[in-house]
Amino acid sequence: MGESHSPFINLYCIYVIDTQVLIVGGGSVGLSLSAELAHHGVTSVVVEEQPNVNPHPRANAIACRTMEYYRRWGIADSLVAAGIPPENPADYYWVSSLSGREIHRLSLPSQTQLETLRRTTEFSIDNRLHWSAYIKCNVGQNEVDQILRDHLDTLSQSQLKSGVRAVRYIEHDDHIETVLFDPVTSVESKITSKFLVGCDGGRSVIRNQLGIAYEGDGDLAQFVSVYFRAPELMAAHPFGPANIYFPLHHDHAGYLINWDHGESWTYHIQLKANESWDEVDAIARITNLLGAEIPITIESIQPWTAHALTASSFGSGRVWLAGDAAHLFSPTGGFGMNTGVSDAVDLAWKLRGVIEGWGGPNLLPSYDIERRPIGSRNTQLAKELYERLASVMELGDILDEESAEADQVRMTLKADLVEQESLIASFGVLLGYRYTNSPICIADGTPEPEDHPQMYVPTSRPGHRAPHIWLTEDETLYDRFSVGFNLIRTNPSVDVSDLVAEATKRELPLAIVDIDTPETQIVYPCALTLVRPDLMVAWRANLAPTTSEDLWDKVTGHFSIS
Ligand SMILES: Cc1cc2nc3c(=O)[nH]c(=O)nc-3n(C[C@H](O)[C@H](O)[C@H](O)COP(=O)(O)OP(=O)(O)OC[C@H]3O[C@@H](n4cnc5c(N)ncnc54)[C@H](O)[C@@H]3O)c2cc1C
Repeated sequence: MGESHSPFINLYCIYVIDTQVLIVGGGSVGLSLSAELAHHGVTSVVVEEQPNVNPHPRANAIACRTMEYYRRWGIADSLVAAGIPPENPADYYWVSSLSGREIHRLSLPSQTQLETLRRTTEFSIDNRLHWSAYIKCNVGQNEVDQILRDHLDTLSQSQLKSGVRAVRYIEHDDHIETVLFDPVTSVESKITSKFLVGCDGGRSVIRNQLGIAYEGDGDLAQFVSVYFRAPELMAAHPFGPANIYFPLHHDHAGYLINWDHGESWTYHIQLKANESWDEVDAIARITNLLGAEIPITIESIQPWTAHALTASSFGSGRVWLAGDAAHLFSPTGGFGMNTGVSDAVDLAWKLRGVIEGWGGPNLLPSYDIERRPIGSRNTQLAKELYERLASVMELGDILDEESAEADQVRMTLKADLVEQESLIASFGVLLGYRYTNSPICIADGTPEPEDHPQMYVPTSRPGHRAPHIWLTEDETLYDRFSVGFNLIRTNPSVDVSDLVAEATKRELPLAIVDIDTPETQIVYPCALTLVRPDLMVAWRANLAPTTSEDLWDKVTGHFSIS
């Protein structure tokens, strides 16, 4: 893997741990994978080269889907509590600069208002308030990673080894050996595991050793991200408080995120072709954006690059990839980490199935078949959002001029920006993904709803996300699920004893969930719906199958793909 070490460090090579799954990379995806594996009772070790969480916030939008998983692990409330105050207005301003003009504004209800609305609005399938228990959670990725680390500390199945770097792995017939390097002690050690998952980000050593390349469009744009404190900033401009400001003048192009009540901010500045991130005068750029001098304390500065890349394979055999190691995004839309966490949740139960013996030879390969198209879909959508946003950040002083021509320019721009509201409301992307070609979902012949980036159609069609339903004010359908497969039965008189007996024989985890609320009957119109451990629908019908063996063979990968 191209690591050059001093030759004598191998003298200190020691074997340390044996685990079921070794996860290289303790970012949001690696930590989430470990938590989901523990949820399934599978042991894992996460190795992370950084001793501590990166304090510089990158992601801010934790999608409703991700929050649904986090709710199952009992950490969703901690994330909400660590996030942007729920009463903060969810406003978005597109402005020429912070001393210039408002070109467009989108005002959404605050989290508190949404919660009230949700509780007082009758259920309807096309009302987005009922699509998930969460709209989204605005919280810095640094907070997410810390909460995930704290959560792993409470799990006997998960172990985090930070401050050590994975340098290479050796694949054997029945296990993997991974070589680690501790840069402080110069000690090399090895971990043996049944499986290895590279969650080691864009420069993944695991992907490189697998010989897997990214495909797509790289280097769409370079940015520098400035994390700073400026308690006077919110009052120093003429616009109202907002979640995000998008300055459109080409001298200020980028976006400004407020993390709290106006004290902490991140300004992501798009670099010009000849600009280098470490030469950017951050205070001058913030002052120019604001058009006024206020006290500013810079906390950290980091560069990042927008890409639209997906790995040509998500792995095979004992070695797999998830998260940024498998796909690299433009942050527009907020899909990167969220897509990675869904990778982790798809992969975790399949690893469990194979480790416990009820998973067949094609269960793990279905991970690549299901998740890689979603990686390509989501990177492509993020790229389109990036290109649209970049296209409205090309104008200069005309944005603030007083003239008929400038009025026309602003009107045209505003029309474009109305369309760009999709940057903020991407329910279709986040909830409406589907595993069209999955070999482990059993198609029922019903028509596929449109895959629309903004619109989500709750459907229990196989291959789609099992729709969420509130059962009471505070209990969701997912809260009734056990860990493993769940068979939703909306008609308790349908006999499922054969299905259950076959599952018991195979020692695979299955629970029957009898629910017949009117809402459930609407989104789960079949008497039986089999929900996979990753909250995706595997099969549905009005009667139990004639041969339960065939059904279980199919959904657990016991077949050959010709
Ligand atoms: C400005 C910005 C804003 C974003 N906003 C959003 C958003 O709102 N929503 C969203 O969903 N996504 C967003 N993203 C994307 C998101 O940050 C990434 O998709 C996410 O961090 C991917 O998580 P990961 O765990 O796969 O990779 P990473 O976060 O890159 O973590 C990989 C980890 O692996 C470790 N590592 C690497 N190599 C080794 C090794 N050899 N041995 C041990 N450890 C190793 C690294 O130290 C790192 O901690 C944003 C990204 C940026 C840059």
